[in-house]
Amino acid sequence: MKRGILYIISGPSGVGKGTIARALLEASEGSMVFSVSATTRAPRPGEEHGREYFFITREEFDRMIEEGEFLEYMNVFGRNYYGTPRRYVEEQLEAGRDVLLDIDVNGAMKVKENCPEAVAIMLAPPSMAELRRRLENRGTETQEVIERRLAEAKSELSRMNEYDYVIVNDDLLTAIEQCQRIVETSKYTPAYCVEFVNDLINEDF
Ligand code: ADP
Ligand code: 5GP
Repeated sequence: MKRGILYIISGPSGVGKGTIARALLEASEGSMVFSVSATTRAPRPGEEHGREYFFITREEFDRMIEEGEFLEYMNVFGRNYYGTPRRYVEEQLEAGRDVLLDIDVNGAMKVKENCPEAVAIMLAPPSMAELRRRLENRGTETQEVIERRLAEAKSELSRMNEYDYVIVNDDLLTAIEQCQRIVETSKYTPAYCVEFVNDLINEDF
């Protein structure tokens, strides 16, 4: 059984990570699964425990840190904690399914340190004005939170060199297609084919 590939999607809040992640998962017909993070932030209207996030208390989050249950975790935007539960990711990769993480830049780089073969995609907005429009139109954050997230956007984007790919999410369908092409192409990298080629080298003629 071939191990799955770990994909990371990052980018400023409101750029379209969740939207594109949903499209990739749907198109994958089960070959890719989403890693549901744990967070201490409150659910937005319509969000469900276990679907977008596991909404947990700070105490539970601290316990998970202590027990080493996170692949990575971060205090994002200085207030709320977010973390990737390790076990689910490992089980799914082991079962041959690709896993998609929607995590912030620091978390993404921590994952890359531990799993250098992970494929990291940075999503960029077509303009900063459009990023503001998307955040405001989504209507899920207060103006204060929106300003804080916009203030972070430029420093997040400035770390694009640490990523494998940068996709500008201008026209949504185009961006989804571009991400799908990355997913497809990553099946042809040496990192993905290493086991097969190693077995080949050990075979007799
Ligand atoms: P993120 O997960 O990065 O915070 P979302 O996926 O929630 O962002 O998208 C933020 C808002 O922008 C949503 O209302 C979404 O419908 C909208 N959106 C996403 N991609 C596009 C796009 N290419 N063009 C216009 N609106 C978009
Ligand atoms: P939101 O509150 O808008 O859902 O997410 C805020 C930010 O937290 C986004 O940049 C998102 O990618 C990031 N995030 C979500 N889950 C995790 C996680 O498990 N780890 C890290 N490091 N960041 C996360």
